[in-house]
Amino acid sequence: MHASNGLYDATDLCSSLAPGADTVVAFLDRVREAFAVRAVLLLGPEGGAPAWASGGATSDAAAAALCRAVSGEGLRVVPDLAAPRWRTHPAVAGAPGWRFVATHTLGSGPGLLALLDARPRRLTRVQERRLADFSVAAESLGRLARAGEGLAQALAAQGRALAHSRKIFDRAATAARIGVWECALPDETLTWTDQVYAMFDLPRDAPLDRDRIVACYAPDSRAALAEARGRAIAERGGFTLDAEIVTGQGRRRWIRINAVVECEGADPVRIFGMKQDITEEKLLADRTRYLAEFDAMTGLANRATFQARLAALDEAPGRSPFGALLLIDLDGFKPVNDTLGHPAGDACLVEVAGRLRGSCRDGDLVARIGGDEFAVLLATTAPGIAEEVAARLVAALGQPVAWAGRTFSIGASIGIARADGRSSAELYAAADAALYAAKAEGRARFRVAAGPPALSARTP
Ligand code: GH3
Ligand code: MG
Repeated sequence: MHASNGLYDATDLCSSLAPGADTVVAFLDRVREAFAVRAVLLLGPEGGAPAWASGGATSDAAAAALCRAVSGEGLRVVPDLAAPRWRTHPAVAGAPGWRFVATHTLGSGPGLLALLDARPRRLTRVQERRLADFSVAAESLGRLARAGEGLAQALAAQGRALAHSRKIFDRAATAARIGVWECALPDETLTWTDQVYAMFDLPRDAPLDRDRIVACYAPDSRAALAEARGRAIAERGGFTLDAEIVTGQGRRRWIRINAVVECEGADPVRIFGMKQDITEEKLLADRTRYLAEFDAMTGLANRATFQARLAALDEAPGRSPFGALLLIDLDGFKPVNDTLGHPAGDACLVEVAGRLRGSCRDGDLVARIGGDEFAVLLATTAPGIAEEVAARLVAALGQPVAWAGRTFSIGASIGIARADGRSSAELYAAADAALYAAKAEGRARFRVAAGPPALSARTP
């Protein structure tokens, strides 16, 4: 995670909120001054060392034990600990050699507020009442501080859990190539997590100028982003967009952007979301789509695409989306395979595809529909054009093919059928019959199928 970004600062917040026991200690300091004693202890209900202390007994378990031994309900004072009962107590016999102790219980429980001094002394009546008052205040303060400590512990536990979640999220986000981004509105300050920097091939400390980042988007994606973002802000909504970028190192990548607009009252204040690197997924999807529609070897439309286009004839009878079908079968292709091998045959098919494409217009569909079978759906319905194109194709495919320092000759036979109100099945059958006729008549030529019976019957 980038140290300066504010997207996940809750952990830092938790640790900075830890409430200390300073308030209690400051209070005990005041008590110590008020009584002019060497030490003041505040003992919790449990045994052991003092919960809090002021003066020279901060962690003195012996002093705490002495206070507990002296204590009883309310106020207890031992003016001089040199009395036989106390003389041998470790806190009296050893350093610092306490000689005076006064304790006051804390109202609701076994806790104590205790004064200790190294010299014998007494408390006045006023001092006794003050100690009682202080013990009430000490109890409240102690309870508050304990609650604060509990809160600090809960917050620290929460902080640790959050840090753990953050680590898991970071790892998962890196593996999934997902980053988090936000853009403050309206000043357009950007904040990114590390993964987004990586996606754009930018160093982690690169300044994020939005205009510069927007310039990384390919023109179509930039326009789509501006449109989607503008609408999301206007409608206080969100969007998902697949966009192409050119990274800081000139690499093309596809990213999926999710965005949500956040408002304060009615005003949009920021737009934020996730960016995911989907380059591989996108390339795979493009490739899958390509393979479903195109012939991998020649790059021409495949049989499925051809059939789908042909079927359009049946959807709008009488309004054909194309003028004629040309079915093309290579002449003498098999001997190429047989004499020079399949690689030569493949190269020949690729060459044929190039010549077919070069002889047709952009609006025509050129497809490879079988081994050495091709089809052209001619866009034009103008009379005579199908014959013109077929003659051009026969000539082009009759030219020798060069491969690996060799040249060889093939040819092509073509059957033409005009759409002319035919169904797709009728059109295909008519073109196929015409192709068969061209082959039968000696190859390297085209033949045109006669018009459909219904039309022929109407023609005088
Ligand atoms: P015809 O003049 O009667 O059309 O005969 P032809 O020699 O062209 O052979 P035909 O059309 O009967 O058969 C086509 C051959 O094309 C058969 C098959 O081995 C070959 N073929 C089919 N697909 C491919 C391919 O992808 N690569 C190669 N190299 N050959 C293929
Ligand atoms: Mg053939």
